[in-house]
Amino acid sequence: MSELYTNTLSEVAAKLRSGEVKAVEAVRACLDRIEATEPKVRALITVTGEEALKRAEAMDAQGPDASMPLWGVPIILKDLLTTKGVKTTCGSKILEDFVPFYDATAVTRLHEAGAVIVGKANMDEFAMGSSTENSAFFQTGNPWDVTRVPGGSSGGSGAAVAAGQCFAALGTDTGGSIRLPASFCGTVGLKPTYGRISRFGLIAYGSSLDQIGPMTRSVEDAARVLQVLAGHDPKDSTSVDVEVPDYLAALGREDLSGVTVGLPEEYWGEGLDAEVEAACRAAVARMEELGAKTVPVKLSLTDYAIATYYIIAMAEASSNLSRFDGVRFGYRDKDAEELIDMYTRSRTKGFGDEVQRRIITGTYVLSSGYYDAYYNKAAKVRRLLREDFEKAFTQCDLIAGPVCPTTAFKAGEKMDPLQMYLVDIFTISLNLAGLPGMSLPVGLGRDSGMPVGLQFMGPAFCEADMLSIAECLERSLGRMSMPEL
Ligand code: GLN
Repeated sequence: MSELYTNTLSEVAAKLRSGEVKAVEAVRACLDRIEATEPKVRALITVTGEEALKRAEAMDAQGPDASMPLWGVPIILKDLLTTKGVKTTCGSKILEDFVPFYDATAVTRLHEAGAVIVGKANMDEFAMGSSTENSAFFQTGNPWDVTRVPGGSSGGSGAAVAAGQCFAALGTDTGGSIRLPASFCGTVGLKPTYGRISRFGLIAYGSSLDQIGPMTRSVEDAARVLQVLAGHDPKDSTSVDVEVPDYLAALGREDLSGVTVGLPEEYWGEGLDAEVEAACRAAVARMEELGAKTVPVKLSLTDYAIATYYIIAMAEASSNLSRFDGVRFGYRDKDAEELIDMYTRSRTKGFGDEVQRRIITGTYVLSSGYYDAYYNKAAKVRRLLREDFEKAFTQCDLIAGPVCPTTAFKAGEKMDPLQMYLVDIFTISLNLAGLPGMSLPVGLGRDSGMPVGLQFMGPAFCEADMLSIAECLERSLGRMSMPEL
């Protein structure tokens, strides 16, 4: 019999509902797997084993509840989602001992759906990075090859799902941080439309870009988790009050006839690694066999996306992170003699290099002398980037391309920040436009043997269609296997 942890979320949820598997057994399976794999993978900052077992026991005493779609399902959270009474570090020393007194709305919704939180995942400090190497605590290994990075910034979440430590994890995506680790670790990762999921309790990096989303081992699993998370929240004024469709009902389409897929030439040309291109092209060819039509489209401003994104993201970060001052939250330097000195010392010691770099750059682009030249200009380019997408979506239903030009790189390979920023070339435009996207694993690279993700991008609130198209392709290609660990 295959081990329980190899089940998908949908499979284990059905077994839990029928009583075939007890909530305690599901939690134990994940805790055992965490114990077996953590020494190598190091995906988690906190394991909430005791609390999880207690909750599972209480749930078992009541018996399965059919009204709770995730009853008894163990889930892991990126460690920037606030959890009442459970340490929430954001991968930073400045929040090393921060214990929030409230749950993020996404966490509340998971609880209400019957999920059991088993841990909090490692991440780049304040979600700034693409490899999880910027965590203030330790590096996470890619479960397919632990000498390589899991992607970032939700690298702990991606690695945990790929390693079978949970049946789903939540990540956040400001510029690709769900899609990139999903691609590198061979999981499904969905970044919903901006406003689809409440950001209340998500410790902000770039507020106009951040979105929470699921990372799972199947498309159906992502649909199940999205169903629970999506919807308006009065606590987040940017959460949108539009109807939540039935994402599961949308799945199961027979083929892709009637679907037009746009292929942006900017994503399929120069700079793309041959093995990534081969795996992605084969997946698109399969979509054509399934009846989809492909057309070339243009995302002509792609070259400006990195500069635009990093100006806007750093500007927002510099403002968002001003609240960490040693007074209200987290670390306070005790040696300071007066107030300004205390701010300076607390922030100098509490924040890592990359975070400091971004606060300084962000403050610079917002300063009165440079605001027009940088921030204002970037805001205008952002508008044009969105129009680029709008134009493309008059020609196609969905855009397909690689998530990243390469598969997972080796830890320590990209120490130059600019080189690291370039990793995001195919993912950040979507956040600037506020649109939904996902990564679907489509195979292993022929040279590296590492997972390759195909990215879908679509118009606002097209998640149901996007998931159904991805699920049809996934059924045809076969689900991604799990790595040997
Ligand atoms: N790598 C990008 C950055 O460092 C994206 C991070 C994210 O999506 N959180 O800003």
